[in-house]
Amino acid sequence: MVPELEYYDTNIPCLAACPVHTNAGMYVAAIADGDDELAYLTARLPNPFASVCARVCAAPCEDACRRGTIDRPIAIRALKRFVTEQFGTERGNGEAWHRVAAPPTFERPQSVGIVGGGPAGMACAHDLRRLGYKVTVYEATDKLGGAMWLGIPEYRLDRGVLSADINAIIDLGVEVQYETRLGVDVTLEDLRNNHDAVFLSIGATLGRGLDLEGAEADGVFKAIEFLINMNRGFNVDVGERVIVIGGGDVAMDAARTALRASDYANQDPKQIGGADNQGANGSERDEEDAADQRSLMTEAIDVARTAARAGAREVVVMSLESAEEMPAHEFEVEEAQHEGISFMPRRGPRRILVDDDGRAAGIETVGVTSVFNDEGRFSPEFDEGDLQVAEADTVILAIGQAIDLEALGADGPEVSPRRTIQVDNDTGRTSMDGIWSGGDAAKGPRTLIDAVADGRRSAADIHRSFGGYDEAAESATFVKLAQFHRLEDSYDQTPRVDVPTLDTGRRIGLVEVELGFTEQQARCEASRCLRCFANIILDVDKCVLCALCADVCPVDVISLVPSEEVDSGAAGSTALLLDEERCIRCALCIERCPPDALSMGMWKGIGVPV
Ligand code: SF4
Ligand code: SF4
Repeated sequence: MVPELEYYDTNIPCLAACPVHTNAGMYVAAIADGDDELAYLTARLPNPFASVCARVCAAPCEDACRRGTIDRPIAIRALKRFVTEQFGTERGNGEAWHRVAAPPTFERPQSVGIVGGGPAGMACAHDLRRLGYKVTVYEATDKLGGAMWLGIPEYRLDRGVLSADINAIIDLGVEVQYETRLGVDVTLEDLRNNHDAVFLSIGATLGRGLDLEGAEADGVFKAIEFLINMNRGFNVDVGERVIVIGGGDVAMDAARTALRASDYANQDPKQIGGADNQGANGSERDEEDAADQRSLMTEAIDVARTAARAGAREVVVMSLESAEEMPAHEFEVEEAQHEGISFMPRRGPRRILVDDDGRAAGIETVGVTSVFNDEGRFSPEFDEGDLQVAEADTVILAIGQAIDLEALGADGPEVSPRRTIQVDNDTGRTSMDGIWSGGDAAKGPRTLIDAVADGRRSAADIHRSFGGYDEAAESATFVKLAQFHRLEDSYDQTPRVDVPTLDTGRRIGLVEVELGFTEQQARCEASRCLRCFANIILDVDKCVLCALCADVCPVDVISLVPSEEVDSGAAGSTALLLDEERCIRCALCIERCPPDALSMGMWKGIGVPV
């Protein structure tokens, strides 16, 4: 009874949650087994920004990790860093990663123009160049990296690591034209004439406008502009008391509207992100909104920590959500708190107070009674009687970013209601032949790894449009493991190893805050992994239905049921059921089975180096 490949993939939570389908469990297991190079190659195979992601990925794999149902998820990102530090591009020698990302061995006739050298554009360039296409990246600034450079503070991502991953892609033979801005130095028409395909990944570097009283005062910044200026080394006048308003423009509009209008309930929910704001596909839109909220909260926390480093005496992050509802990772909030940043939950902005010199003096806030409705959708309610004033000389608005649609010209591709380039989600194809798009330009500001996935998805589709196919996907085979993994009986007694960080007192300037695991810490943490990539296989010809496996299973996921419950045409006998989604792969059932009817197996060739 071999699991279908599609089911197998979805039943490895870390792999299924990763936008580029990194087989995280496989590299974690390799670390536990002491094979760090295999671990690195497994992590690097689907991700040209493995070293960057090892520091700053939002790690959706950890949110999904099955170990989290027992105690806490595996520290997957920190384990990736443990192996990139040994074999990654930051080591300055390409021996290891060239084994899964070698330069092309032949040239194809087609050329592809990529606009924007951020994570989506560079991931697309990496894959297409490796396939032998001529690739030219048009970058508006004098540096590649996009949001990785402009939007992520240096204390989270060492610039040497970023440069190493980018240089490795350029070294494949990618041509770059710097300071070439779409709509100014080159037009979409030029690109279509000069290339066989075009990928637009222009990023979202414009701060959104905001109709909040006082928003034009001195000392009021939009988060993305603040981060860009700080990361480019420009002088920004950060005052002593900073308030960062998180939650995005939708949250702010909602808060203001509640006070301005007498009846908030009469507002059109489409304008304020309320319960009916779902578009044609409700769940897809909900997921997009949740991703937006999380990325905005990360932006708010990044901004707060950057402001603290810029010399602010007091930094407060204000949010509509309570501490429990805040769409941020626990570690992001904890790190900020360690650095003295405080949070002001359940408040919405009403207006920015301005002094006689035209400088921000504080914020009038309104209490929030609830943020989500009974269906769990964003639909904030406010208490108009609960108004407070918080003093501040600097206000930073984490209200999200917008893309420069004018750069596309009058005859550009169709634009979505979210003011992004309209694309097919599976391929990144736009409404115009020969033009693909991905990253923030197509989906709005998202995580780094989502952007990498967009670039890779479109690269594969561009390749298909030229008649190519995905060889890796054709090579998967299911193999029975000669030696199965046996989970220690004390498996639930080993707590997660905390990721080491710099002492709070030493967090000055741009020094990286998160540190790497020691070897001992890495092996210990990796050994907590359940190895969900291994499946229990039943040989029905050997099984005698003795039920000893069901007796021994510590999590009661094996049961014997009348066969008609499984197959209506097979009445009168008994079937053995195993709930793979709850199985912890302890292997006790395999050891106990008298006729050796149970074993472990896995698909090979997908997501792992061959
Ligand atoms: S326990 Fe291991 S294999 Fe399972 S989801 Fe977590 S990291 Fe992946
Ligand atoms: S490996 Fe076997 S005994 Fe262990 S949890 Fe899974 S089904 Fe139960």
